[in-house]
Parts: sequence; structure tokens; C-alpha cells
Amino acid sequence: MSLFAPRSPADRHATVTEVGTRDGFQAERTFIATEDKAAVIEALFAAGVRSIEATSFVSPRAVPQLADAADLLARLQRPAGARVAALVPNARGAERAAAAGVDMMVCFVSASESHCQANLNKGVARALDDFREFAPIAARFGVPVRGAVAVAFGCPFEGEVAPAALLRVIEAYHAHGVRHVTLGDTTGMATPPVVERAVEAIRGRFPDVELALHFHNTRGVGLACVMAGLALGVREFESSIGGLGGCPFAPGATGNICTEDLVYLLHECGYETGISLERLCAVALQVAALLGRPLPGQ
Ligand code: ZN
Repeated sequence: MSLFAPRSPADRHATVTEVGTRDGFQAERTFIATEDKAAVIEALFAAGVRSIEATSFVSPRAVPQLADAADLLARLQRPAGARVAALVPNARGAERAAAAGVDMMVCFVSASESHCQANLNKGVARALDDFREFAPIAARFGVPVRGAVAVAFGCPFEGEVAPAALLRVIEAYHAHGVRHVTLGDTTGMATPPVVERAVEAIRGRFPDVELALHFHNTRGVGLACVMAGLALGVREFESSIGGLGGCPFAPGATGNICTEDLVYLLHECGYETGISLERLCAVALQVAALLGRPLPGQ
């Protein structure tokens, strides 16, 4: 039996969550017009993408590029079955995101103390307290929450991240009913053995949690890590169109794995994504034209 292929006919679907307009655009210095962002998302919908992390309700002062989050969401025509998620850092962001009609709120806490300080300006304990404050707001509006763990596979300041550090964050998420967790490889330090160790530790402790994996291609092994995830039974991956992105607060972090490359790989491994590779490649060209430079997707 193949290690990577679907395990049964019912196991043929893989979910691709597009994060380019959030994770990618937030690193762009020049403001991208809201209508241009909306046009990219609508082209992604037209290509068959149904899960998008569109923007972020962080402070507009911290990330001016995404200050138009509510306006962007208001412009989107969502096809049936589409899920539009947004990052939410705290209670105030949760109120704004709920008012803007997000389908899912994504909270994020780093697994390491130093990255949490650099990224969020607060330690892990404070970040988890903020999450505990906003979780009831999401519940009140009936919006599901996805818990993301940043630097899940390695920290640029502290090096290796122990599974215990991941479990600490996921335990807090889990206690508030979060069952969707993303492990983020914020600075591209994941390798297949590190992914295996992390996924197995989490499965052992929280078997009811659905994991998604978010890799960066900083060291060229992003898709190898996707293969490791497939072999471990993970069926949701995050990527950005054209390989846009990086983390503005993590030194040396380059782009996310590229959505076109990921979709090609998943299809070749026997999965259905509902996405047209040809149309997706056209969207990558559209984004490259918008930014005025070629993108790293292959
Ligand atoms: Zn990323």
C-alpha cells in the first residue's frame, strides 16, 4: 500500500486553505487596493478554492496593509460551501471580525516565548489569556475558532521546539472547544522527522483534534513536509498563491509553500481538491502582475 495515497475511496479529499492574501500580502510594503485584494480572492474562488484565510483583524497600526479587513470581507461574493477565515488576536479583533461576518476566526499563539514576544509583544501565558477572553465572543456569534500554533516546528530565537510547548498551547485551545488546529512553520524550520514527532505527540494527547499543516519553503523542504503529513493522515494544508509571504516579525522567513505546487502534488498523489490547476496558475500570474514582480511558485 502506498504511504501517501488515500487510504480508502472515502479518503480522497484534501483541503487546501489559501493564505496568500493574509500571510502573503501582510509582508508587502505598498498598500494593495481593497478591490484588488477582493479580485484575487474571487479569482481563487473561481478556480475552485473553498477555504481562504483572507485577512487579519490585528491592530491596523501594527499591520496597515490589512487595515481594510472589514471592507474586504464586505466586498466578497462567497460561492456555496466557501469558508472565509480571518486572524483574530484579541477580544476587540473578535468583535470586529464577527461584525464583518467571518466564517471562522483564527487565533494564533507561538509555541516559543521569544517568538511570541517578537510577534505579539506579549508572552505565551498572556497570549493564551487573550484567547480565553475572545473565545466566548466567537461562541456568542456562533463562529468556529481555529487555533494556530506559530513556530510549531522550530523557533528562530530558541531553536528546537519541544512537543510539550505545542501541547501547552493546544491544551488551552482544546479546553475552550477548539477542535481545528493548525501547526505553523512560521520560519521554515520543519523537516519530515520533526513533523512526524509533533503530529504524533498531538494525536496521542488530543485524538479528536483535526490538524492542518502550514509550511514555509525557506529551506526547500516544504513539500517534503507535506508528504510527511499525508503519510501521517493529515488532509488539510495551508499555502499561498505563487508562494507569496513570509513573516515580517521573524528574521529570514521566506515564503509559504506555493498553492499551485501543492495542488499539483496532491492531485498526483491521488487526492481531489476541487481546484483547477490551470485556473490557479492564471491567478498566480494575476497576483504577480499586481505586485509587479515574478513569484517563486514553480
Ligand atoms: Zn505562513
